[in-house]
Amino acid sequence: MEEVFKGSFTQQEPIPEAGIEAALAVLRHGRLHRYNVAEGEVAETALLEEEFAASVGAAYCLAVASGGYALATALRACGVGPGDKVLTNAFTLAPVPGAIASVGAVPVFVGVTEGLVIDLDDLAAKAGQADVLMLSHMRGHVCDMEALTALCAAHGLTLIEDCAHTMGAAWNGTPSGRWGKFGCYSTQTYKHMNSGEGGLLISDDAEAMARAIMLSGSYMLFDRHRAAPPPETFARIKYETPNVSGRMDNLRAAILRPQLADLDRQCARWNALYAAMEDGLADTPGLTRIDRPHAEQFVASSYQFLLLDWSGPAIEEVLARCARRGVELKWFGADEPHGFTSRYDSWRYAPSDPMPASDRVLRGIVDMRLPLTFSTDDCAQIARIIRAEVGAVWQAGVAAQ
Ligand SMILES: *Cc1c(COP(=O)(O)O)cnc(C)c1O
Repeated sequence: MEEVFKGSFTQQEPIPEAGIEAALAVLRHGRLHRYNVAEGEVAETALLEEEFAASVGAAYCLAVASGGYALATALRACGVGPGDKVLTNAFTLAPVPGAIASVGAVPVFVGVTEGLVIDLDDLAAKAGQADVLMLSHMRGHVCDMEALTALCAAHGLTLIEDCAHTMGAAWNGTPSGRWGKFGCYSTQTYKHMNSGEGGLLISDDAEAMARAIMLSGSYMLFDRHRAAPPPETFARIKYETPNVSGRMDNLRAAILRPQLADLDRQCARWNALYAAMEDGLADTPGLTRIDRPHAEQFVASSYQFLLLDWSGPAIEEVLARCARRGVELKWFGADEPHGFTSRYDSWRYAPSDPMPASDRVLRGIVDMRLPLTFSTDDCAQIARIIRAEVGAVWQAGVAAQ
């Protein structure tokens, strides 16, 4: 009998009991707005910012409404405006070029390597076109951050990091998000902490963070923040910075604080699932696993492999066969965008020159989620199914040649 996987690739774990308790307390007192505090009370949102800043060693942190909002706010706080070009990854998710477009700026896409990170040679070639790089650590793949930051310094590029997939990850011991002027995180359901929607922004730059706090809609209540620059930083900025409302509320922060306290343990569980996938797919003919450098301390909430140089129909055949056996794979190579997979050439508001080497990689990327509701046995079974179906299509292809 052919085995069929019965789990759900989109089922997250429940919110921890401590988060549910904290959320109920907020609901019972009714002070959901972050600046609505009782005498002597510190808002959950302010506490979350303080705790998140401490967890990554950042001077400042701001909680906001979404990851995409965090990205757009970082751009605005860096002075990016209409007509400016912003370098970003060709392999990323739609909210990244979307954040750039939301401030009237224009994305310039930089290629992707077979290691699924930004192509530093392509970045060097395009660095002269922009002042800002919005680096997306897409699907948790972290590039050589020493080389990247050296390149940014050499070309005068301001770095903003999209850490939607790298909360808890690091390069050579320095957390992702700590290499640039801003690090931007998402707490949307499919990321590493789940508040439905939400985002976090970190920085060590007092002026830039003061601008971000004003932008988020702090009115003149910035002194109620605990991970903010000192009030004197706001002296001029408070008059100059528009309010682009996008705050986080106390209910979401209450749900997130216990999850942050448990993040390291969760990251270790994700990586155990990833290791089970890696073991199960080792030496599968036709399938390329992604090389993870030793310096990369990744957090794997998803798994990618490459079917490099396979034809479109052959990849679709693998996806269909796996789907029949309960294994939901996503393909970044399809010509039409589906679900969350879209490619730089499907974002037609941001025309780009073709990138043949990157297109070859993008055409081969197969992607799946690894929710923590899976066990390592589940992952071993998923890997057996993928291995068998990739093998069957590969054999047929080899036989046909
Ligand atoms: C989810 C995601 C975002 C945006 O996060 P939202 O909270 O959904 O706005 C940004 N970048 C990447 C790579 C993402 O996956």
